[in-house]
Amino acid sequence: MLACIADYGGRVRGKGYPVAEKEKYVRRGVGLAPTNLMITSFGAIVNSPWGARGDLLMMPDPATEVVVDHGDIWPAERFVLCDLNTLDGAPWMCCPRSWLKAGLARLESTYGLRLYSAFEHEFHYSGVQESGGNAYALDSFRQQGDFLSRLVGALDEAGVEPEMAMPEYGSGQFEVTNSPAIGVTSADRAVQLREVTRSVARAKGEKACFSPVMGAGLVGNGVHVHLSLQDLDGNPVSYDAEGACEMSSQMGTFVAGILAYMTEFLPLTASSAISYERLQPNRWSAAYNNLSAQDREAGLRICPLAEGASKAGFNVEYRASDATANPYLLLGALVWAGLEGLSKNLPLPLPTNGDPSTLSPEEAEARGLKRLPASLGEALGIMENSNTVRSWMGDEFLEAFLVNKQSEVSLLEGLDINAQVAKYVDCF
Ligand code: GLU
Ligand code: MG
Repeated sequence: MLACIADYGGRVRGKGYPVAEKEKYVRRGVGLAPTNLMITSFGAIVNSPWGARGDLLMMPDPATEVVVDHGDIWPAERFVLCDLNTLDGAPWMCCPRSWLKAGLARLESTYGLRLYSAFEHEFHYSGVQESGGNAYALDSFRQQGDFLSRLVGALDEAGVEPEMAMPEYGSGQFEVTNSPAIGVTSADRAVQLREVTRSVARAKGEKACFSPVMGAGLVGNGVHVHLSLQDLDGNPVSYDAEGACEMSSQMGTFVAGILAYMTEFLPLTASSAISYERLQPNRWSAAYNNLSAQDREAGLRICPLAEGASKAGFNVEYRASDATANPYLLLGALVWAGLEGLSKNLPLPLPTNGDPSTLSPEEAEARGLKRLPASLGEALGIMENSNTVRSWMGDEFLEAFLVNKQSEVSLLEGLDINAQVAKYVDCF
């Protein structure tokens, strides 16, 4: 059994113990040095505010335990996700999962709201031959053999609730979506889905790669997050036929917060240097902090409801994210930004219709429209100067994250885009 945490670099790391002793470790926790969170995506620790000092406890959450049974072809895998506590039992103020939970608790206690969300993951699978013309093709299903059915079976067994599995646009590219879930469970499922996908691919001697891009100019692997709100009785409260963009006032201000702070929290959702290769116009990802109905190039897409469909399914989709982001930081950023919108009662900006770059600078400014930062370095600079994001995270947490990501940027110095991509492809 491996007790695991997702670190700032979006990698999942852990420590193992015999399954027979798992109850003991749920009670006592498993020791961890704070600097473990500072391992960069590529494996090296460059800088850490904690150095060799300090001790934390990984506290396994038994509800997140996953068993992947590979039958005869590979040993079974077991892991459980953890919160990080200090030795006196309090949540550690720099723990990504606890930070998300704190935001969700505030959403509940201050506004009587719960987040209902679902992740979609795109990735490349090495077990198919490169071939042209196979975008979304039935033949892609044939080529991948039993990988997707094994994967969906493993996710089902692990309680991760997969919803759909499909070939995507790129050669060897696939997508698996999760059913929506309340609160932290949705982010837990994102971590579980990535790891189970990697595990099922490894068992077949292949690799599932979640790198945001696989080469300069090539199709991106996005992570899209569908968001809606419920009241404490589980009733959907996002839709209002009379509201701006058919959103209830609560949903409208929550969404306005995400749009207003998207450029400031972006490194929490697009966390690698090559994430910014994906966040460009004409890539079906996101290039602006814009809201738009049914537009797959919007930072936030208002998802359609077909005629007669239940309004309970009304949701928006955040598209400026990928799997180099820690799912707790990604969802946490959206929750804390939404809270900011609620507390300031921010108005919903006008949605865009078409390419935002065609708007005049005056019109763009009047709508609060900004081009997303063009590089991780630029995005980190904006985040560092954001008093708002600092107020959500606190100094120690924000600085640790920034140091981690600035280290990542320094490790890539002098490499061209394809050499950078190769490094991420190797570890994601
Ligand atoms: N692959 C695109 C991305 O990088 C998304 C395509 C889609 O809308 O499914 O986000
Ligand atoms: Mg897709």
